[in-house]
Amino acid sequence: MDTVLVTGGTGYIGSHTCVELLNNGYHVLVLDNFSNSSFEPIKRVEKITGKKVKFYEGDLRNKELLRKIFKANNINAVIHFAGLKAVGESCAKPLEYYDNNLYGSIALFEIMNEFNTKKIIFSSSATVYGNNPLPYGEEMPYGIISNPYGRTKCMIEQILGDLSKSCSSWHTIILRYFNPIGAHQSGMIGEEPQGIPNNLMPYILKVAVGDFPELKVFGDDYETPDGTCIRDYIHVVDLAKGHIIALKSLLNSNNQGKNSEGINIYNLGTGKGYSVLELIKTFEKVSKIKIKYSITQRRDGDLPICFANVSKIERELGWKAKYNIEAMCEDSWRWIKNNPRGYKNV
Ligand code: NAD
Ligand code: UDP
Repeated sequence: MDTVLVTGGTGYIGSHTCVELLNNGYHVLVLDNFSNSSFEPIKRVEKITGKKVKFYEGDLRNKELLRKIFKANNINAVIHFAGLKAVGESCAKPLEYYDNNLYGSIALFEIMNEFNTKKIIFSSSATVYGNNPLPYGEEMPYGIISNPYGRTKCMIEQILGDLSKSCSSWHTIILRYFNPIGAHQSGMIGEEPQGIPNNLMPYILKVAVGDFPELKVFGDDYETPDGTCIRDYIHVVDLAKGHIIALKSLLNSNNQGKNSEGINIYNLGTGKGYSVLELIKTFEKVSKIKIKYSITQRRDGDLPICFANVSKIERELGWKAKYNIEAMCEDSWRWIKNNPRGYKNV
């Protein structure tokens, strides 16, 4: 069976993807520097699947370590999650973001070139669509991007495009995630933000377990039915399964759907949007917990509405999100109910 290197595999999306990889019979190697995670998710992934992960602690920017990993293992493909992801922090610390995300990716691609492992899936984001018309389709040009985090995603996409143009043996799939929420149905792995969460669902969860008194809803005067922003939430397990489908096509070197730069780009969303207030109401319904909130001013840079056109991945790879918004809320709730302190209470 094929061996897959998962960078950032102890993180939120990485850990869920490791479960799906192991359940599909792949050998899984994980590289993570724990800058936003710990070893505990690996233990839980192994418990859920009954299978072993080979783990390397270290930084993507450490080329000697990357060489060691590639030398010791016959790696068939890489799924590249590792990166810093907080939009606000990226505005405050742009160099850290360019160094970690951009330089880290370049180091990885160099070593992949050296060892002739040229199959990669890269975690990109809906943020690259910026101010394009809705729904966002993969053929659209980059939009106006207002922060260094989003710019690192565009730049890495472009680097991968240049690599593919330079050498036809590179096979790249870029997955643009919309808003992943939810957790594995076992309630054993989930999202564990450090400090005060930036994103909506982790904040709702903190209010649900009593860590914060209320949620601040950033603006209710948008041009949407209830005035709050609309996002395309996708269950993290659906997202993880999307990686397996993409990996299978990559390993078969199925070139269908490549753009002019020789790379495949797919949106991972549901194609449906829910407002902030709708998400709160659904969470309250499934958890039977009241989420106290107040309306505050808009957050800088927020788009009123964001949702995907998901027809390309369905047509070309046969992937479609399965879980609805209730399931996303139920599974988020189960995770936090079982682990109110995240992975820290062990
Ligand atoms: P996460 O922070 O939970 O996981 C990222 C992992 O990468 C962490 O475990 C962190 O310790 C590790 N890491 C970071 N820099 C590293 C380095 N230099 N060397 C080794 N390990 C490093 O984030 P996530 O939510 O799982 O996101 C995974 C990827 O998906 C990221 O690239 C992110 O930008 C992208 N993405 C996430 C979302 C989202 O809403 N979660 C949306 C769009 C795109
Ligand atoms: N949001 C909010 N309060 C919060 C966090 C987020 O009202 O504490 C809103 C935010 O303004 C946006 C939506 O929830 O309209 C989703 O935000 P998130 O940061 O989760 O995703 P993104 O905006 O990056 O797509």
